Amino acid sequence: MKKARSNPGSRRRPRPRLPEWTSGPTTTTTDDLDGVPVEVRTIQPYQAVKAYTCPGCHSIIGEGTGHLVVVPLLDPDDRRHWHRSCWSRRHRRRPR
Ligand SMILES: [Zn+2]
Repeated sequence: MKKARSNPGSRRRPRPRLPEWTSGPTTTTTDDLDGVPVEVRTIQPYQAVKAYTCPGCHSIIGEGTGHLVVVPLLDPDDRRHWHRSCWSRRHRRRPR
């Protein structure tokens, strides 16, 4: 008599579903923006499939341009796309 092999304990662990923009070799670091803790993710040029407006210079980050995504840890929906250079210069931004 045949025995059906069912062995749920050894099933492969399902991968966590990730948003598409984390599916590459993405570097994630934590930093802060105006005292708010944020996660900073590096977007490779081939991952940049949409154009975004950079909050640092208010210019467009075009498709295919490597940039950074800044995600507030407490409010992940409020993420922003920055040019790398604008992000690194943000501390020098002085509102007049
Ligand atoms: Zn910019």
